[in-house]
Amino acid sequence: MTFEQLQLIPPIIKAIAKENYTQPTPIQEQAIPPVLAGRDLFGCAQTGTGKTAAFLLPIIQLLSTQQGPPKGKRVIRSLILTPTRELAIQISDNAKSYGCFTNLRCGVIVGGVTQRAQEQLLEKGTDILIATPGRLIDLMNQGFVDLRHVQILVLDEADRMLDMGFIHDMKRIIAKLPAKRQTLFFSATMPSEITSLVNTLLKNPVKIEITPVSSTAERIKQVLYYVDKPNKLPLLIDLLQDKSIASAIVFTRTKHGADRVVRGLTKAKITAQAIHGDKSQNARQAALNNFKSGATRLLVATDIAARGIDVEELSHVINFNLPNIAETYVHRIGRTGRAGLSGIAISFCENEEIPYLKEIEKLTKQRIPVIADHPYPMTLTKPEPATVTVDRVKVNSAPSKDDTRGHSGEAGRRRRRRSNAGK
Ligand code: AMP
Repeated sequence: MTFEQLQLIPPIIKAIAKENYTQPTPIQEQAIPPVLAGRDLFGCAQTGTGKTAAFLLPIIQLLSTQQGPPKGKRVIRSLILTPTRELAIQISDNAKSYGCFTNLRCGVIVGGVTQRAQEQLLEKGTDILIATPGRLIDLMNQGFVDLRHVQILVLDEADRMLDMGFIHDMKRIIAKLPAKRQTLFFSATMPSEITSLVNTLLKNPVKIEITPVSSTAERIKQVLYYVDKPNKLPLLIDLLQDKSIASAIVFTRTKHGADRVVRGLTKAKITAQAIHGDKSQNARQAALNNFKSGATRLLVATDIAARGIDVEELSHVINFNLPNIAETYVHRIGRTGRAGLSGIAISFCENEEIPYLKEIEKLTKQRIPVIADHPYPMTLTKPEPATVTVDRVKVNSAPSKDDTRGHSGEAGRRRRRRSNAGK
């Protein structure tokens, strides 16, 4: 299947070619035709499947081909609601790229930054508005937002918006939209609240389910290190001596944990920045930009801050803490190995996280291979014998047939020396 076969117009085909997308992903193949035909859509899909383009491309096409160019001030014809600021900015960046050969205008409204520029954006008018619910409500209350002309509503990562307590804001926003509209609803998981929201908001929707959340992509190689809590940072620093881990997202459970890891890495002269809710929006965006440009090697993030961050060609994800919700593990590791690339997910498991590991393995229906040969083996409690135990693997390369070989060479010798020195 090609993008041309999806009946996309030349300005969009040209923009996609500029992005070097050669063929649509499954969700794009399935979502674009019904959205172009005006249908409501319920997409059960996670980040990494290409869902952003699956809704943006047809929206751009529908809006840019509408009869009679809008005279005077532009009105908001499509509203996209997302849970986090980073995701909103990312969607807007994508919309600008995909729509660069059309005359559409796109704006973002998020919290954490001053309001003035956003007031100006709304005064000037925009065709597509991407917003987080909290700030949008603030601006609506102050009379800056007119949603009466919205034709297409997108709720992206709706499950996360519910988790983050945005349900009332969402409902208040939706109440201001015309009843006659097209609604596109995306969620990675399908708890009962989501199903009932879908039933009330969507009219005869097309349902698309891509990669159930319990499945981990085969192209992602997963490995596990049992390690005592105080040795996690030394182990991380040790693994990062391997320069071919060019960039990675490191997940911690708490904001303080993220800051601690960044301090430890910085001391070890490894460039790292934290991204979490206590940072200002500008600090988070700067950290993300530094990471994307390669100026920072590691982004240390909590789950909420990291949700939806789109970094192309991320080769490694490191779980400094295992998440207490098994599905979060699947979301985290899904950030590597995107769009056909291979990736590696490294997890550290301390004694207290063993129950989380069990939940994760139950959900994914697979055992994560354990790296037993490392300088900081767990001493506090012996983990249960794992059924899959492999030698230290070469964690810096894409999965290959021979990646269960033992570590040799200078890095391995250095590690062994350090390990012996600690005994
Ligand atoms: P998303 O699921 O929307 O977060 O997209 C995941 C990543 O896939 C992003 O980096 C997109 O730029 C990329 N992407 C989306 N569609 C395609 C495509 N058809 N071919 C290659 N990459 C794509």
